[in-house]
Order: sequence, then structure tokens, then C-alpha cells
Amino acid sequence: NSLESNPAFEIFQSKKLEYGQRLRFSESPSIEFKQFSTKHVQEYMKNIIPEYISAFANTQGGYLFIGVDDESIILGCPKDNVDRDSLKTVTNEAISKLPVFHFCSSKDKDKVSYETRVIDVFQGGNLYGYLCVIKVEPFCCAVFSEAPISWMVDKKKGVYRLNTEEWVHMMVDVGPVSPDHLKYTPKFLWKELCSQHKRLKDLVKQQIRSFSCGLLILSRSWAVDLNLEEKQEVICDALLIAQNSPPILYTILGEQDEQGQDYCTRTAFTLKQKLVNTGGYTGRVCVMTKVLCLSSQNNNKTSGGSVSPIDYPSSYNLANIQEMQDLLQALVIVLLNFRSFLSDQLGCEILNLLTAQQYEILSKSLRKTRELFVHGLPGSGKTIIAMKIMEKIRNTFHCETDRILYICENQPLRDFIQ
Ligand SMILES: [Zn+2]
Repeated sequence: NSLESNPAFEIFQSKKLEYGQRLRFSESPSIEFKQFSTKHVQEYMKNIIPEYISAFANTQGGYLFIGVDDESIILGCPKDNVDRDSLKTVTNEAISKLPVFHFCSSKDKDKVSYETRVIDVFQGGNLYGYLCVIKVEPFCCAVFSEAPISWMVDKKKGVYRLNTEEWVHMMVDVGPVSPDHLKYTPKFLWKELCSQHKRLKDLVKQQIRSFSCGLLILSRSWAVDLNLEEKQEVICDALLIAQNSPPILYTILGEQDEQGQDYCTRTAFTLKQKLVNTGGYTGRVCVMTKVLCLSSQNNNKTSGGSVSPIDYPSSYNLANIQEMQDLLQALVIVLLNFRSFLSDQLGCEILNLLTAQQYEILSKSLRKTRELFVHGLPGSGKTIIAMKIMEKIRNTFHCETDRILYICENQPLRDFIQ
């Protein structure tokens, strides 16, 4: 530990020191001296602690001395100005307020690690005052001296100050997965599904309660998303991408259905193929399946036979956030890629991805949304949307291609669509 090989460590461990003694080291990037001869020591400490403690924690760690002047002379805080205990209390309070943000998945180091020593300073054999030393360990991620000074306006809240987490999320692309958090997405769909099906929330929560970090990606039909036929009895499919687990595809049915497992397995298999073939995913990948049923009381019991029969080795688990994000990246390509007119014209494959807005249009439930009016400039992707919607109509309503009428104004476009 470099903090213990630091010359300041010896002083940090002292029981008593002499007033006026000169330390054998001076200030450095890991040592800072402060001296307050005022009665308002505590006020001054509250002001400097956030700055120095966060600076040390964000770098290599270090020692903050309160009671040493710039010439390395121990002067202490006179005991008439401050009492022993309050030095510790002020320090603890100030440090506990420092906002931290983790980019890593470390759970054990939630706050800044530090240790405070209050050392007696004697003058001519009598207690004169105290030297307060704070030893700060380096922090794994980011420590702030205060919440960022950044504001937003909201209809309900009015003008409000962002907290550290909100601010970091706005400033940095931390990716869709954050540590210690299992997110349901898209949120609107989850809300809609929960309001339509009373038991859904509890059923899903029960299944995923042992996972603490990841994403649960909901869809009315993962099959349709993958260009397979819809199964009408399916309420929704949920794909779990979680740490320390392989991806799991849950198919949620209203009533028990013998074909449910087949549907889920086929969807999972296609997903796995596309992740590799289309998405270019290079890691080990398997997609486990599980069929859940809203009407049955105990899904763990009844669906015992419907869990994937193969137990994959743990090397198929998504080990960390990086692996989860790599898989998600492949998934984005699987879901958003499309064959373009341009690729055909040039005779070579071009990777095209739908925009988030285009995908949102496509995610609308076809059963509920019977009319869509999409307008845009030439080349903005209206034809692509139309094609994707036709694919979806075919899969959702199980109809033959020749039962879909497509009307357009130019011949090459018609030929391309055909
Ligand atoms: Zn961290």
C-alpha cells in the first residue's frame, strides 16, 4: 500500500507530537497541510474537506493534515478553540456528504474509504491542542466535492438541480446497463402490459428477483421482431440480459398451452442464430427459454419441464457489464438492420440500421394501430418502414404475401419491394 510507505504514515500513527516540531516531509500531490488558528476551525474544515478529500480519492489517495503550516511545522489546533471529538465529527459529516458515482460494479466500496486520527500536541509537557490527520484511500470511480451545479426545468418540478447520477448519465454515455440495477425496457410497454394483466408484475418479478444487474427487454412478440410468425396466445416475450446468467427468453402466456415451449424455443434459436450471423456477436452465446403462465399459481413448479433441457457451462454466462453491452450491441444490429435499395443497386451489402424514431413507429402494436401516416423527405426511409410493416403484417396476421397490397408511385421501387 503506497499510503503506508508514504512518510506521512509514521506521523499518522503517532500518539503525541511536540508543538513547533518540523516534519521531515513537505507538501506533495499526496500530502496537504492546513493550519487554522481561528476559533472557527470547524467552519474552515467543512469548507476544505470536500475539495481535498475528493481530490485525493480521485487520484492516488493521500493525507490531509489540519494543524501543520506551510513550512511543515506542527502547530495543532489549540484546545481552547476546538475539542477532540468535534474534529472527528466534523470530518465524518463532511466526508459522508460527498456524492460518489460508480462506473464499475463494485458494491463493497460504496463510499470513500478514509481514516481520521486526532493526535495530541504538547507544549512544554502540557497539552496544547490537536493535530487532525485524514488518510484517504484512492477511490475506484468518481468522487464529487458536491452535487454538480447543473439545473433543469420540468413542468411539475419547476427548476431543479440535477443530482450526481442524473448529471453523469447526461454527460457520459454509460450505456444501457448500470451496476446494481435491473431495468425494464421499454418502460411504456411494461406499464401498458402491467395495466392489462394484473398478475404479470408479480409473476415476472418473482422470476428475476435473483438478478441484480441487467436489462429485461419486453416485446409483444420477440418472434415478430425476429421476422417469425406471431403466436396469438402469447401476451409478451421478455428477454433477460443479466450479469452472471446466460440470456433468458421468457414467453408469457395467459393460459397453459402445449405449443408454448415450441414457440419459445424456436424464437430463442432464431435469436441466437441472428446474434451471430447478423449481429456479428463473437462471444459464447446460448439463449435459455422459459414459458410462464399467468393463470397457473406456481410457475416454478408447473414449468419445471419447460426450462431449456440443456444446462450450459457457466462460461456461457454474461460475466460483466462489458460482455452484456457487447451482446446488446449485436442485438441492436439484429433488430434494426434492414436490406436497402442502395445495397441492391451497388451489388454489395451495406449495414443499414433503422433510427430510434423509425423503430419506435414499428414497435406500435399492429392490432391497436390500424393506420399510420408517415411523411418525410425523399430518402428519409419511408419505404423501409413500409417494408418492415409489411413483414410485420405477414407475421402478425399470418397472411400470404399476395394478400398485402402495396401502392407506390414509381416502378423501380415496386420492383425492389417485390
Ligand atoms: Zn466504482
